[in-house]
Amino acid sequence: MSRHALVVGSGLAGSLTAVYLARRGYLVRVLERRGDPRAPGVREEGRSINLGLSQRGIVALREIGLLERLAPLTVPMRGRVVHLPDGLRFQPYGLAEDQILHSVLRHDLNVALVDEAERRGVEFLWGHRVTAVDRAKPAVTALGPDGEEVHTADLVIGADGAFSAVRGHLGRGRRVDLHQEFLEWGYKELLIPVGDDGRPRTELRALHVWPGDDGLIVAHPNADGSLTATVFLPFDGEHGFAGLTEPGRVRDFFARRFPDTLTLIPDVVEQFLDHEPASLVTVRTSPWHSTTDEGRGIVLIGDAAHAVYPFFGQGMNAAFEDCSTLDRCLAAHPHDLPRALAAFEAARKPHTDVLAELSERNFVELRDKLRSPLFLVRKKVDLALHRLFPRKWVPLYTLIAHTTVPYGDALARARRQDRLLDTALAATATLAGATLAGLVVRSRGTRSPGGRKV
Ligand code: FAD
Repeated sequence: MSRHALVVGSGLAGSLTAVYLARRGYLVRVLERRGDPRAPGVREEGRSINLGLSQRGIVALREIGLLERLAPLTVPMRGRVVHLPDGLRFQPYGLAEDQILHSVLRHDLNVALVDEAERRGVEFLWGHRVTAVDRAKPAVTALGPDGEEVHTADLVIGADGAFSAVRGHLGRGRRVDLHQEFLEWGYKELLIPVGDDGRPRTELRALHVWPGDDGLIVAHPNADGSLTATVFLPFDGEHGFAGLTEPGRVRDFFARRFPDTLTLIPDVVEQFLDHEPASLVTVRTSPWHSTTDEGRGIVLIGDAAHAVYPFFGQGMNAAFEDCSTLDRCLAAHPHDLPRALAAFEAARKPHTDVLAELSERNFVELRDKLRSPLFLVRKKVDLALHRLFPRKWVPLYTLIAHTTVPYGDALARARRQDRLLDTALAATATLAGATLAGLVVRSRGTRSPGGRKV
């Protein structure tokens, strides 16, 4: 007999997990508070317009057979172009041909996943906002166009994003850890349009970064030749969103901090003032699941379980990795849902906690370090060592973006490499210092008291 699954949220994680569950033989229904994204005129509101897809997401999309079909909608990014006051620097992502990221519109990806899920028999109920969850059954109450409805299922999946209603109800009356932290910076998205000649205004096949400690921009390319730039700024202060509310000040700010954006985005001031800033949140919670004595259960996936800051470009990729891990756990324990859900949480939670830490760290890297010559030298040495010992030495970024090594293992390995690099660089500095001191002593020793060389 088929088991019933109810997925709350048809975002990236919800629609992908619906595909996996349908493949595994579940009868799947998805409840989504928004309307059908395929309806004419529907645009993605709020969240980022385009996203960087990397290895973890690629593996999941390949598993469900969607990668090839998505390829024409994506733009490959071979590295990052850093915009500095004295010009542009290109930093490749990796050595191998396939060590690239792919930029894709959230809307296109979401529509492709919903189409694929429907093709596999998944039923989507649009305009259904989940308002309550009963853990004991489990049952979900949703407010739909015709009023309140109650849906029951063997497995309920909370894929309803960073401010998950399912998470709130999962925790009611239980000992639940919940840590939610807002960054003091927010973001606005601006369009770098195609040039008047119909060509991209800047290198298309790369991620663009304007680093800075009082504001930074990251831009992803779009398949039509435009780019979407995300401007990250502090909420408060003269040079934050609160202070930049008047056209003259906005223009001066961009002219001073990001001068080339004035030519890349001719209407930068209008666009900037036209958008409201959005906030960035990290969420850590535990437990992610609950089960009943009858062997039913509820589990959180994606941002509902672990929202992270977007600075490592891994939120969606981690959410996709959740979906494929959950599928493997269901396959490993086909008749024991509680064990499958426990195995899933044990496999993912320690690593998504590390991802939260890495995402915070990358904020500091993009903000403060990308302009530091010492940091750039270190990056070059890191990459040179990878070139010399491709298997033995792998930079952290490569491990996170271009492999499926679990996040925690990647960080542990990178820390070992960092220690080695520190020791090597310190030894080099000592050697250079000693050589220099030797030269000074020798050159001093060969001078006469009058200062003339003898
Ligand atoms: P969501 O995409 O938020 O989907 C949740 C869904 O649930 C939505 O459709 C929502 O309408 C629905 N929902 C919510 N509440 C209810 C309810 N009560 N009832 C019914 N439905 C409900 N990640 C990357 O991997 N690469 C990137 O380059 C990247 N860039 C980013 C840039 C920015 C600026 C931001 C903010 C994030 C970025 N991310 C990136 C992260 C990525 O957007 C998220 O990790 C991803 O969207 C998580 O997917 P999700 O399905 O878990 O949640």
